Amino acid sequence: MYRDPRYGMRGLSNYYLSCCVNSLLQTLSSTWELADLLKKWDTAGVRADSQNVPLQLKRTLAAMGSDCPQRAPHHDFLHCLDRNSVRLHTQHDADEVFLAVMNFIQQQMDDKSLALEILNLYKISVETHLQCLRCSSIQTLTSYLLSLSLHIKEDRNSLEGCMNSFFEPQDLTGINCCFCPQCGTKTPSKQGFKLLTLPPILCIHLKRFRNSRGYTQKLDCEVTFPETFDFLETKEAFSTHFAQNDCRYTLYAVVVHSGSAMFGHYTAYVRHRMNRAWYHADDSYVHQVSWEDVQRTYGGRYRETAYILMYRRALKEEGPQPEFSG
Ligand SMILES: [Zn+2]
Repeated sequence: MYRDPRYGMRGLSNYYLSCCVNSLLQTLSSTWELADLLKKWDTAGVRADSQNVPLQLKRTLAAMGSDCPQRAPHHDFLHCLDRNSVRLHTQHDADEVFLAVMNFIQQQMDDKSLALEILNLYKISVETHLQCLRCSSIQTLTSYLLSLSLHIKEDRNSLEGCMNSFFEPQDLTGINCCFCPQCGTKTPSKQGFKLLTLPPILCIHLKRFRNSRGYTQKLDCEVTFPETFDFLETKEAFSTHFAQNDCRYTLYAVVVHSGSAMFGHYTAYVRHRMNRAWYHADDSYVHQVSWEDVQRTYGGRYRETAYILMYRRALKEEGPQPEFSG
């Protein structure tokens, strides 16, 4: 197992097709806010700990960040996921596993206030507006998302363009018609999302897998994304109740998928907390890379394709961000 002697990035061996979970673990490990919250959790009262996903995640993240090398810090976590129906020997979808882990944290942590703090790290509160196209009445619903799932077009895309489309109202017709209480029946409608709050950690899922006629197709097309961006530039995104000032985000992790929908491999690019350099984690093998290497995951035919992007909100108290070098 390779470990950069200076900065403690630890590779994770591929254990029964675990590249998807390995890449996710590298991403969660670089989300130090999560490890810090899990560290605060008093787990003395937890029973059946081999079945408890957040407990095994806490141990794995602690082992990955520790100076004492441990041969395979992720095996117990993988077996624990397996006991919770995220099976070993299976190719998984990284976005589904991420949402499942978040769900297990809410269900299985006995410290509910800490579980809520973890939820709030990722929680994107949204207002959904549903306007009936027959009677024009509007229903407004408040809910939340843990990741922004962005539709991508089959040619060239930019993150900014995908986000603008996400917040454009969509027509719901045919089988997607919704019940209108005024009309008393299902009617065509227009649905739109508006942001109420943005989280400290913004998880963006690029929808590269599409189901058509019973099989899954992968979209290799290019999606460019910036290292830093200001959400305030996504003009149509905000509810009138949105009250945050600072919406600048900096990229710190990219989960990458290469190959086809049926035979793929996951790796992760993560930024180190201390030296702020980018590293590429391909199972056991970890090495330092440049921002230009990360940009090669924009996609294109037969190339690595970014699948999940993790951005961290830049806080004013942190002062100016240092220049990023390649
Ligand atoms: Zn109506």
